[in-house]
Order: sequence, then structure tokens, then C-alpha cells
Amino acid sequence: MSVIESPRGASASRDDQSQIDVLDPATGELVGRIPAGSAEAADAAVRTARAAAARWARRSPAERAGILKQAAGTLRAHAEELAELQTREGGKPIGDSMGGVQAGIGAIEQYAELGPLHRGRSLQGNWDAADLMVHEPLGVVALLVPWNDPVAIACGQIAAALVTGNAVIFKPSEKTPLSGERIVELMEIPDGALQVLHGDQRVGAPLAAHEGVDLVMHTGSVQTGREVAQACARRLGKALLELGGKDPLIVDAGVDPEWAAEQAASGSFANAGQICTAVERIFVHRDVAEPFSRALERRARELRVGPGLDDGTEMGPLVDAAQRDLVHAHVTDAVDAGARLLCGGMVPAGPGCFYPPTVLADVPSTADLLRKETFGPVAAVRTVESFDEALLEANDTSFGLAATVLTPSQANAQRAWRELRVGTVKVNAVWGGAPGGAAGPARNSGLGTGFGPELLDEMTHTKVVHLEPAHAAPAGGAGEGTG
Ligand code: NAD
Repeated sequence: MSVIESPRGASASRDDQSQIDVLDPATGELVGRIPAGSAEAADAAVRTARAAAARWARRSPAERAGILKQAAGTLRAHAEELAELQTREGGKPIGDSMGGVQAGIGAIEQYAELGPLHRGRSLQGNWDAADLMVHEPLGVVALLVPWNDPVAIACGQIAAALVTGNAVIFKPSEKTPLSGERIVELMEIPDGALQVLHGDQRVGAPLAAHEGVDLVMHTGSVQTGREVAQACARRLGKALLELGGKDPLIVDAGVDPEWAAEQAASGSFANAGQICTAVERIFVHRDVAEPFSRALERRARELRVGPGLDDGTEMGPLVDAAQRDLVHAHVTDAVDAGARLLCGGMVPAGPGCFYPPTVLADVPSTADLLRKETFGPVAAVRTVESFDEALLEANDTSFGLAATVLTPSQANAQRAWRELRVGTVKVNAVWGGAPGGAAGPARNSGLGTGFGPELLDEMTHTKVVHLEPAHAAPAGGAGEGTG
């Protein structure tokens, strides 16, 4: 398979920030290389974006939406190419990659429909007065995007920012820059309203700190989110943060253990656990714990692990060696602290960054595996004596992204969505939220609403206009001139 050389390609060394070498996590082979930016490039991009924002904002919402619909059509015509690129640079099974690409294109189309309908409101004061609350673009939006679902996340955020009239500086993850570069090329947004800038924190941090950026939308880890929020706070800029999670899955008494295991396996092993809302902690009622754990272990052993481009692969590699080291450290630490390893937990020999689907039971609640985001194919199970205990343990975390509860009891389902301190509660399904649904993370998992129609509010400022009729000048008075 050919190595992708960016037309702007440089020939620097591997650690040189002027170039990023992208490696296939399934083979270790070079997929492509791309030039990286710098603090100076970030500054230049902001200046370009400020000029572009004025031009782009003058187009009507319907015109901006038309441009986005056309861009979505072009991306759809290149969906297979984008999916393959995403698999080669990130490791996802090709079917999952295509799902992400289609979700991204769907989000562009959805925001193109919603943008022109994004309306403010009006109020009447005196009978001849009106107050208008009008949405205006913020100006320049910087998007700092992660590697784990790069096309879907980028497409939705770019579309929401553009349709509301903002100029965008899009910084893909340094681990998946090639799909980001290609998205921007294919979208062909006029006016210079969409720029792409590559690099790691050496480019992201100057963008977050830049006075000329009106909104920094960061999707990524809690640690980086804190740094971005601090950089924005120092200059009173707005930060919108969609961060990591440590999502619980509660398995209540009375559920079918086979079905619950199927849900748990999908929640823990999809995209090798590298999903912000992956199931990272499982609290199972003692009544079903034994058959549930056996079924989960069986499913983990049956999963076909391999390169994402191979037919039949159900789980690909982790994104890189550093991610695999972190996952393995969480697993070994939990085992050292007394967890029972039911399967997996070994770093395989051979090329690539593979890690087996791993199931642990009786994980101590103090282990990193239950306290820090793992982001790997690991199902960490604890047995609880009651639904009360499950809720208590589920809430015993600083994260607050999402949670799932599997229960036949309507009363317990109601309690769960009321009492779980998270942004999204899913009852009886780990996945399957409606396309276009909002997500407003709680606690350390973020700030603001990162998806759905509400994202259009985040991307705009509401200006208030108070209108009253002027008093006409009296006849023969000052207004008529005295010559
Ligand atoms: P990350 O925070 O390391 O990087 C995300 C982006 O921020 C990248 O573009 C990166 O280059 C940039 N960045 C890194 N340091 C920076 C700094 N100091 N200043 C400015 N920018 C900086 O996250 P990641 O490892 O790429 O992604 C995985 C994380 O993303 C996980 O924690 C996952 O849960 C989270 N995530 C959250 C959501 C959500 O919607 N809540 C979705 C996907 C992923």
C-alpha cells in the first residue's frame, strides 16, 4: 500500500515537529507523513481566520448551508477512501471506520438543515417597542480534535461552527492528521473560512492561548481540557470541553445474563475500548454475577482480533504503543491489588499495538483501573449486593460522561437516571442514541454541550437589540435647518 506524502511534505527527522510520520498501529509501517505547524503558524492561521470570518459571516445562513451540503456530497463520494485512511492511521476495523465517516457526513447534513432555522427570540416592551435576541457568529473557532473517532467528530464540529458563520481553525490529533487533511481538501470551503493546522500541544496550546480565538472547542482528555480551560480563562476566552469518561454499566438482578454480557462486551471492546463513552466499570448484582462473568469471558475469548483492514476483524489494535503500555499498566496494577484475571491481560508478541480483550473480576475500588480513564479493551467487574450499592459505586468517581443501566425494573430505571451524576444515562442499551442527540457532560467530563442542535447555541453569541420608533422633529423646528 502506498505511503501518503502531503504535497507540502518536508523531509525532517521523526521527532522533528516540522513533520509528522503516521504509523499503521496494526503493522508499524509508515502510512504517510505531513508537515506540522508551529506557534508562528498558529498565529498566522488566526490572522487569516479573522479576515475570513468577516467575509464568511456576510453570507446568508442558507448560502452557508448550501456550501456544506455540497461538501457533504463530495465527502460521501469519497467515503471509502476516508474510511480506509482512518483505519490505516488509527487501527479501527474498516466497518467501524465507515460507520464513523457516514456519521460525520450525516452530522454535516443535519447542521446544514438546522443552521438556517437557528433562530433567536423576540419580546415586546412598550406596545411600539421590540427586543430582539439575535444569534451572531462568535468569530474564530479553534477545534482541537482527538484521534479515536477523528472523522465523525471533526465533521460535526466543523459544520456547526461554519453554518453559524464562524471561521474555523481545525487541528486534528497528531496521531490521525491524514484523514483531517483530506476532509478539509475535499470540503472546499470558500473565503478561507476553514483552515487545517497540524501538530501536537506545541500548536494546540498557542491556539488556546490566542487572543484572536473566540471559542476553543477541545475534545480530549481531562488533563488537556484543564490546560485549555486555564489558557482560555487567563484571557477570558470561551472554552467548550468534551472530555474523557469512566462510564459505569450497572447490571441489575433479574436481567438475562447472556444479554447483559453481550451489552458489556460491546461497551468495553468496541473500537478496542477507545471510545469516550466506553464501558470502563461494571457493577453486577450478586444474583447474576456468576453467569454474567462466565458469558462475558466467553465473548471476550471469541472476539476476532486483527488488522482493521482484514475481513472478519472485530477488534483492531490500540492506537499506539504508549496507549497499550497505559492499558497494560492499569491491568497489572489491578491484578497486583487482588483482581482476578479471567482472560487476556498479556501483551502479545509480534508487530502492531494489539492487546487482547481482557476481563477482570473483583477489581478493588481503589485500583487505577476503576479510577482513571483506561481507554482500552478491558472489562473491569465488581459484584454488588444491591441496586443502592451499584448506584453509590457508580457515582464514586470524578468523571461524569455517561452511564448505562440494565434492569427489568421500571422503578430502578427511574432512580438511575435521576441519581447518576452524568451527562447521559442509557437504559437497557449501551449504544444507540438518536443521531443529532445532544451531550452535556457533567463533573470533570466537560463543560457545555458538544453535540446536537444545542451546539449551534454554543457556537454563537446572543446579541440583544432594543428597537423603538424615533420621535419625529416638530415642523419648523431644529431638524429643518435655519439657513
Ligand atoms: P488529548 O486531550 O491528548 O488531545 C486532543 C487534542 O488536543 C489533540 O488535537 C491534541 O493535539 C490537542 N492537545 C494536546 N495537548 C494540548 C494542549 N496542552 N493545549 C492545546 N491542545 C492540546 O486527547 P486524545 O488522547 O487525543 O483523545 C482521547 C481522549 O479524548 C480521551 O480522554 C477520550 O475520552 C476523549 N474523548 C472525548 C469525547 C467526548 O465527546 N467527550 C469524544 C472523543 C474522545
